[in-house]
Amino acid sequence: MKETRGTLIEKIERTGTIESFRFKPEEKIDFLPGQFLQVIFDEKDRNNRLLNKHLSFSCAPQNDYIEVTKRLSQSEFSQRLRQLREGDAVLFKAPMGNCVFKDEYHNIGFLIGGIGITPVVSIVEYILKKQLNTNICLLYSNRVEHDIAFKSELDYWQRTHPHLLHVLYVVSDCEPVDKRCMIGTINKDIVASHMSDWQERMIFAFGPPAMVSAMKNICLEELSCNKELIKTEIFMGY
Ligand SMILES: Cc1cc2nc3c(=O)[nH]c(=O)nc-3n(C[C@H](O)[C@H](O)[C@H](O)COP(=O)(O)OP(=O)(O)OC[C@H]3O[C@@H](n4cnc5c(N)ncnc54)[C@H](O)[C@@H]3O)c2cc1C
Repeated sequence: MKETRGTLIEKIERTGTIESFRFKPEEKIDFLPGQFLQVIFDEKDRNNRLLNKHLSFSCAPQNDYIEVTKRLSQSEFSQRLRQLREGDAVLFKAPMGNCVFKDEYHNIGFLIGGIGITPVVSIVEYILKKQLNTNICLLYSNRVEHDIAFKSELDYWQRTHPHLLHVLYVVSDCEPVDKRCMIGTINKDIVASHMSDWQERMIFAFGPPAMVSAMKNICLEELSCNKELIKTEIFMGY
């Protein structure tokens, strides 16, 4: 793990509240898909948890830039991100995290809620760029359709790699316009019917604590999955 600065090269609006930030690092950051970094706005006090926060990489390691994606709130940390302009430099500590994909699984499944999609994007982009034969099934839940981050990227990857990637969007709070979205929340029945070969997949769950805990409960208690076949990363701070 090391500290390095990155220069902001682009901001990308993903939804009304979610934004991606792309940086050109001064020194290459070697990371595995699924890992995260720490953004350090308070360089004098590394323990300042309000200004120094963890964000997952939301791009494949093969790119010559790094990208992080934040659900922007009213917090000071979010304000600092919003205020960044192209050319501004930010300090990062990276890489961190063990919930990673290292080419070792032939079939993987993702049970994801909201902003937990960020490391999934890194893993999927990595697999497709490396032309691996890994089969990916993603169940991705959000409250409403316009909250779905990275939908156009996921739709494109699904169209271009239909034999490798299957995505099911689930929305809980209103009738979706896209008829491929399902109404509801990810539960045992949805996993059993839309990821029917779940026993043969390595399952990843990323996201806010309540979401990860609900997904673990479905897998371990309701479906009696082998706990060796589940990897989780909790986004503390939600
Ligand atoms: C491994 C990891 C990866 C992450 N990846 C991402 C990512 O890719 N994108 C993303 O948007 N977020 C990610 N997060 C969460 C991120 O670090 C922030 O905590 C989160 O975005 C909230 O930040 P905020 O400034 O908007 O919080 P605030 O608006 O200040 O807080 C949101 C809520 O969390 C509570 N809270 C704040 N800090 C803590 C804390 N340290 N412990 C417990 N509760 C707290 C607050 O009281 C409030 O209720 C990740 C976290 C971890 C640990």
